[in-house]
Amino acid sequence: MSIIGKFRRSNNSQLAFEIDSLGVRAKLRYDLEAIGLSSSDYGNIVQEIPSAVLFPTSIDDIMELIKFSNECPLPFNVAARGHGHSTRGQAMAHNGVVVNMLSLEKQCKNGNRIKVSTSGNYADVGGEQLWIDVLNATLQHGLAPVSWTDYLYLTVGGTLSNAGISGQTFLYGPQISNVLEMDVITGKGDFMTCSRDKNSELFYAVLGGLGQFGIITSARILLAKAPKRVKWARMLYSDFSIFTRDQEHLISIKGLEYLEGSVMMDYTPTNNWRSSFFSPAHESQISSLLKKHGIVYCLDMVKYYDDETVNSVDKEVEMLQEGLNYIPGFAFMKDQTYVDFLNRVRRGEINLKSKGLWDVPHPWLNLFIPKSRIMDFNAGVFVDIIHRQKMSTGPLLVYPTTKIKWDDRMSVVTPDEDIFYCVGLLHSSSRSDWQDLDNQNNEILEFCDRAGIEMKQYLPHYKSKEDWIKHFGSKWNTFQERKAQFDPRMLLSPGQKIFNAV
Ligand SMILES: Cc1cc2nc3c(=O)[nH]c(=O)nc-3n(C[C@H](O)[C@H](O)[C@H](O)COP(=O)(O)OP(=O)(O)OC[C@H]3O[C@@H](n4cnc5c(N)ncnc54)[C@H](O)[C@@H]3O)c2cc1C
Repeated sequence: MSIIGKFRRSNNSQLAFEIDSLGVRAKLRYDLEAIGLSSSDYGNIVQEIPSAVLFPTSIDDIMELIKFSNECPLPFNVAARGHGHSTRGQAMAHNGVVVNMLSLEKQCKNGNRIKVSTSGNYADVGGEQLWIDVLNATLQHGLAPVSWTDYLYLTVGGTLSNAGISGQTFLYGPQISNVLEMDVITGKGDFMTCSRDKNSELFYAVLGGLGQFGIITSARILLAKAPKRVKWARMLYSDFSIFTRDQEHLISIKGLEYLEGSVMMDYTPTNNWRSSFFSPAHESQISSLLKKHGIVYCLDMVKYYDDETVNSVDKEVEMLQEGLNYIPGFAFMKDQTYVDFLNRVRRGEINLKSKGLWDVPHPWLNLFIPKSRIMDFNAGVFVDIIHRQKMSTGPLLVYPTTKIKWDDRMSVVTPDEDIFYCVGLLHSSSRSDWQDLDNQNNEILEFCDRAGIEMKQYLPHYKSKEDWIKHFGSKWNTFQERKAQFDPRMLLSPGQKIFNAV
């Protein structure tokens, strides 16, 4: 059925009638363009039709909407939509109201929603801001946040609701570890400023809280001096245990600012859309290697530098590479500006968009795997399931990070080991075969279950409450109590399907 058909059938007339009494009514849209955008996301798998979309021009608009819902005998759900880059409808609100957060950036009266402090160690940033804009604004002061995601066209509120991870996480922690303070509108419609010292329960709840406790309208993000350029080295391995040993070694010593890793398969191109690193000359060399081994592992490490360190950086990178056991002759190097490096996925996005391959289904699976079981995961998942079935063209990410940089009081859950691996199975598919990849994802989850691998899903997606309870484990009671405290009528982010029936 078309969106029109679904929308007409949806129960929106009662809501439209009730909302007509509100001050924000002129900022609510019911048209197909607004509804269509809010009922789809990057995943292209789920579609949930809201009754209306709010295009706020101030924080007060969002407060008014949430307060109003609280006062209704039959309250409606409210979902903040950042950039809609979720993959399973997490920012949707079936028959509820989606708040188009990007509208704040365009419309807020006082304009500037990214303010760098004069002391220079933080910026106050609107929750609707894209990280690329935060980067560009802070760079004007020679500063930048320290912890990133691989892709910068995501909102601050969207990534802080999950964690925000990338190759810097081992050193600085996820993005949620680098927030000093937030302004939040709770599920009751109250505006609260929170930090580790003030309203700390709300602060810890919201960070990694999957949008369940409040809408982040502003976050104070830690900044540091921005480097100018980076040396980006990529080394190839055929043996997973040597690959992970080198990764773990590199995150245990000082000197690097970024470490990631990925898996290449003999049936896929050497360069994937997310990172085209290799020159054509190298590609044929690597293809032969892939033919020989079937699977090859790539270790990516990055060292930042600027004018003061330009003369010593090559030596430092050499020293970091000394003692690593990659395949001789298979180390490659790039020298880039810091901005080009951080914004590397954008080039892939533009390329895919030009070929009409961006808006396709993305049945992603992201996992945190405890270090003690990563060998079993490789054998059971990369080698047995993925390579054998030859369905996924990746990217397939795998890199270690350190638990000590995560704050356990926050809502996000991680495995119970000092080091765990971030695994990203970032599949793209055609409209007709996403279910095959989804079945493969389920097979992977079942494998982990059978093998007793105590993994946690990142950007989690579950179908039953029992699964959510298992996901949160010992944090479930706190998560529930915080929900009762900050969003007792369970209005917020229903698309996560934690407290709202599937
Ligand atoms: C191409 C691509 C690359 C990615 N790379 C990475 C990566 O390297 N590392 C990583 O960690 N993640 C990565 N992600 C995942 C991404 O961080 C999450 O999907 C994130 O939620 C997307 O942000 P968004 O602004 O699109 O959020 P949305 O999809 O709009 O929202 C996500 C959730 O947060 C809630 N929410 C949105 N805004 C707010 C707010 N202001 N306050 C409270 N709740 C809010 C929504 O209701 C929803 O539940 C990537 C995603 C894509 C598509």
